[in-house]
Order: sequence, then C-alpha cells, then structure tokens
Amino acid sequence: VDNDRHRSERLLSMGQIAAGIAHEVKNPLTSVKGFLQLLREKYQDDFFTIAESELDNAIAIITDFLKVTKPEMDDESYQVVNVAAELEAVLNLFLDRQYRISVIKNFRDTKQTIYAKKNQIKRALFNILKNAFESISSDTGIVRVSHYVEHSQLVIIIEDTGVGIHEDKISMLGTPFFTTKDEGTGMGLSQVYSTVYGHGGTVHVQSTLGVGTQFSIYLPIESKEERPLTEIDVIYSTGLT
Ligand code: ADP
Ligand code: MG
Repeated sequence: VDNDRHRSERLLSMGQIAAGIAHEVKNPLTSVKGFLQLLREKYQDDFFTIAESELDNAIAIITDFLKVTKPEMDDESYQVVNVAAELEAVLNLFLDRQYRISVIKNFRDTKQTIYAKKNQIKRALFNILKNAFESISSDTGIVRVSHYVEHSQLVIIIEDTGVGIHEDKISMLGTPFFTTKDEGTGMGLSQVYSTVYGHGGTVHVQSTLGVGTQFSIYLPIESKEERPLTEIDVIYSTGLT
C-alpha cells in the first residue's frame, strides 16, 4: 500500500511537471511561429513554410497534451456522486458507436453514493473503458463492466477480451507518456491512477497476453462525518474561529 502511495505521488508530480513544462514551452513556440509567418510573407521562401508547419505540429502536440491533463480539474470540489449512474452515462458514449463488441453489465448496489470529484471520476472511467474497447482489434469481443459494494468499498471492474498487456509492461502502466499505440498519448492511465489514488482508492490490473485485461478500481465509501472537507466546510470553519 505504501508503495502504491509513493507511486501515485510520483505520478501526480510527473504529470504536474510535464503540464508546467508544456505550458512554458508553448508560449515561446507560438511567438516564434508569429515571426516565421512574417519572414515567410517577406521572403516568400518554401523553407519558412516547412519550418512553420513543423512548428504547427509541435504546438498541436502540446495543445493536445494540455487538453488531456486538464490541470484546472484539480480545483474541482468534492460532491455526492452516484458512480453507477456516471458509469452508465460514460458507457453509453461507447455503445452508440460500436456494434461488434458485446457489452455485459453487472451493476449491483446502484444507489450507493460517495464523496468524489465527479468530473475526474467520469474521465477516469472513460479512459479505462476507452482502453478496453481499443484493446479488441479482432472482429468480436466482450467488455464486461461490474459495479458493487464490498467491505465499505465501491468496486468497479472493467474487463475486456482484448490483446492483453505483456507482463514486463504492467509496472509501466500509469507512467505519463507510456503507450504501445501508434496514435496513443500515454496519458489516460496516468489520469486514472492519480484520480483513484487522490480519492484514497486503489487500482489493480490483471492481464494475460492474447486473452484480456481486467482493471479493478476500489474507492472508499466514507460515512458523512469522514468525508473530505468541501469549500463550504472550509468557509464555515474559518467563520467560527
Ligand atoms: P494510450 O491509450 O494513449 O496508449 P493509456 O495511458 O490509456 O495510453 O494506456 C497506456 C498503455 O497501457 C496502452 O498503450 C496499452 O499498451 C496499455 N493498456 C491499457 N489498457 C489496456 C487494455 N485494456 N488492454 C491492453 N492494453 C492496455
Ligand atoms: Mg488510453
């Protein structure tokens, strides 16, 4: 568990550093682009056009990265969230678009709520489901989604019959930019791990190459008294002292 915590802190800070660097690098690149534009207009040289389009690529990568990390979502406050309902809504985004993959839902304890950052949780569920659907490259496959309560924890399991993950790669999961996909960003699981650990939960991965992968998310269900402070709580407590 302690290793898990260190891992999550490392992931959080790596993501934050990466986002900070991306932000700082984007500004000078954008101003260089402006100067290149002026040069191209003045000298009409193809080299400037090429340099500009290379620069456009670099700026596009950074812009996408900043969109994925969404640092502003860190400011979201805790609220009552029905995770089952959010899971259902996110799952529907995928059902609309694909027919070759069967989805099996096994939802129990759907009235359970937790205190959570709703958008972060939704995004994490989206990122895991996206990987599950993407892992199935053959004509047919199954994605099984379960939701239940066990030992004061909310358990969400997302299983696929996809390509699986090589044993050697399991420890790399969640490291920002780790991807095995041609068009991957390697940011999805990094968001998943930092969100789940940030909520005091844990993530378990089981995978067999060529058979499939199972992601299990455990989120603590606290009693009302134990919930994390919200902004309202903070205002009230400072008002009293
Ligand atoms: P991306 O999807 O952009 O590659 P992620 O952080 O979402 O980035 O995932 C990182 C890597 O973890 C993927 O490239 C893939 O190798 C592996 N992975 C994650 N989920 C699965 C899955 N359900 N099945 C197989 N591989 C997976
Ligand atoms: Mg992904």
